[in-house]
Amino acid sequence: MSKRSLTMTDDLYAYMLENSLREPPILAELRAETAGMPRSGMQIAPEQGQFMALLVELTDAARYLEVGTFTGYSALAVALALPDHGEVVTCDVDPETTAVAQRYWARAGMAKKIDLRLGPAVDTLDALLGDGAGRFDFAFIDADKENYVAYYERAVELVRPGGLIALDNVLWSGRVADPANNDTDTEALRAVNRRVHADDRVSVAMLPLADGLTLARKR
Ligand code: CA
Repeated sequence: MSKRSLTMTDDLYAYMLENSLREPPILAELRAETAGMPRSGMQIAPEQGQFMALLVELTDAARYLEVGTFTGYSALAVALALPDHGEVVTCDVDPETTAVAQRYWARAGMAKKIDLRLGPAVDTLDALLGDGAGRFDFAFIDADKENYVAYYERAVELVRPGGLIALDNVLWSGRVADPANNDTDTEALRAVNRRVHADDRVSVAMLPLADGLTLARKR
């Protein structure tokens, strides 16, 4: 029997969700609304949201930084798991998708925890760094792939020692392993994967969860 991760069939995926998913109704509703929108595939999978909420519990995180808000699923999944004094800073450039996000955050009673920063995320992260390094417990990078290295480098500064950085889409539907595929986004993901792997500032694991999720803990 192979020791590598198994192939996820439709039946097995359904079984996994039936036997583990505890998606809050507000998140299920947000997922249903997002499914009818353009680029709905950018939303994280529900089991990934649940995993990130578990990471919050495991690490006692209170301050969460996110690059790539979209319709707000991951920010809400994390906000619901944060303590009452918890804080989310989430970055995006799209006022339309984030309007959906803000509607759900308000309905869930989480708007007070979530600070949406509209604008190029590199600028937002640089501004946050200007306020001081090491102030976040957990950072999630899930935005334009060309800037992943730039986001990662800033995230390493913005999380505290012992803090966690998660990078989404690192397996990119398998395209990262296809030598015939050299498009800009695929090359950008290969570059950040090489960077994180070689970075001795962090401990690292790459998980074949959803579209590939790297976890890096700052030493
Ligand atoms: Ca993603």
